[in-house]
Amino acid sequence: MTAVAVQIGRRRPVATAPASHGPLLDTHGRVHRDLRISLTDRCSLRCTYCMPEQGNEWLARTSILTLDEIERVARVAAAAGITTFRLTGGEPLLRPDLVEVVRRLSAIDEGHGPVQVAMTTNGIRLAEQLDALVAAGLARVNISLDTLRRDRFAALTRRDRLDDVRRGIEAARDSGLRPLKLNAVAMRGVNEDELCDLVEFALAHDAELRFIEQMPLDAGHTWDRARMVTREEILHALAERWSLTAVPGRGGAPAERWRLDGGPATVGVIASVTAPFCGDCDRLRLTADGQLRNCLFSTDEYDLLPMLRDSTRTDADLEAVLRNCVWAKLPGHAIDDPGFLQPDRGMNAIGG
Ligand code: SAM
Ligand code: SF4
Repeated sequence: MTAVAVQIGRRRPVATAPASHGPLLDTHGRVHRDLRISLTDRCSLRCTYCMPEQGNEWLARTSILTLDEIERVARVAAAAGITTFRLTGGEPLLRPDLVEVVRRLSAIDEGHGPVQVAMTTNGIRLAEQLDALVAAGLARVNISLDTLRRDRFAALTRRDRLDDVRRGIEAARDSGLRPLKLNAVAMRGVNEDELCDLVEFALAHDAELRFIEQMPLDAGHTWDRARMVTREEILHALAERWSLTAVPGRGGAPAERWRLDGGPATVGVIASVTAPFCGDCDRLRLTADGQLRNCLFSTDEYDLLPMLRDSTRTDADLEAVLRNCVWAKLPGHAIDDPGFLQPDRGMNAIGG
């Protein structure tokens, strides 16, 4: 597929505001500490809930942020109080300079203490790259796995790569990276009969399974609320096998967690649709083409790309945009509002 420049979403004209100091605060009092950085919109899989079968109109290669540009935004963000960078995509392991990205970002220290670099991946190619990533400073990894059945995996992701994913999970199990988390989107008629098996699989790999409610973020706009397996249904299925005790002290984390049979093993549920956690959200997103987003579901983006490529624009200009973006964050994603508009970008181009 040829790469063409695409204009996605409404891009706000970037207005620089006087740089202020202190934490990255929005008008609802939320302090932002977590920047999700999408390294590419491309992927080795085609999960039905994320990408259309034929792939997307890919972002133009010339608009993808370079290593230096990513590092610069990350430094400015860290100086403003960001403490965690989560690398995502698309599939971050497809990025040829990934190890160097991890090395540069994990070396950032802008006076608020060292940052942590984490990654969300589908696991394909992880086994080959993990040692180098850990040596470069990667602190944590989340791996996505929705089914343990090869036929289902191939149908769901449109690629027959389950064995590659399992190799990646085994490599993560054998690494020192903890906590290790496996993410599964629960889907009716697809994997809802495997929820307990997925938890068992995670436990056998010294990992925590986290179930995610399916969100209206597929590039094909095919999301159907009725097909979404809810938090309540997930908990009901798990309670058939384990006694569940809520773990207190969630903070800004997206997952609610439960101890299984008193612990120490735990399971998590990210109920973005039926029990949104927007009130505690501390996340900000940078797309692979340099758009800042203050929410997964926002339809507004703040375009850093021209600023990054204009030698007259300073770090203070970038910081002002960062602060404007956070400041404009809405109280919640409003999926249930009649006027809800699904963002034009699919999850792969936003960065989950
Ligand atoms: N390719 C990597 C992966 O799959 O882990 C990183 C990017 S992916 C967009 C990040 C996470 O978003 C994955 O755990 C994936 O399951 C989740 N995701 C993608 N589309 C989703 C949707 N429509 N609803 C809920 N979760 C979704
Ligand atoms: Fe690729 Fe991850 Fe989207 Fe699946 S969820 S298509 S692995 S970006």
